[in-house]
Amino acid sequence: MDKVQHKREQELATVTEMIGIFCHDIHKTDGEHLCHECQDLLDYVKKRVAVCPRMGEKTFCSACDTHCYAPNRRERIRMIMRYSGPKMMFRSPLLAIKHKLTEWFAIKQKIL
Ligand SMILES: [Zn+2]
Repeated sequence: MDKVQHKREQELATVTEMIGIFCHDIHKTDGEHLCHECQDLLDYVKKRVAVCPRMGEKTFCSACDTHCYAPNRRERIRMIMRYSGPKMMFRSPLLAIKHKLTEWFAIKQKIL
């Protein structure tokens, strides 16, 4: 699997998890299935990620300046990420530590 393909899958996995957390908490779904609205959004994201021309260079679609999301969808995704992002950090402490370490090294490099 090449790097870009790996990134696509990672991004999709992250978004899927985030929509899942949001839908479960806010729309009171069972945690395994999404409500119609969230499923629709996820399908949309899948299509966007599949055709994204800049997958190899950027971090996340939400942080990308190529506006391939329609404004209303984009706003919705951002809202979900704001809600689910911190919860995901809590769910995956190892990922959070990795993130902190990367940050710390970056700061240290600037000082030295
Ligand atoms: Zn939902």
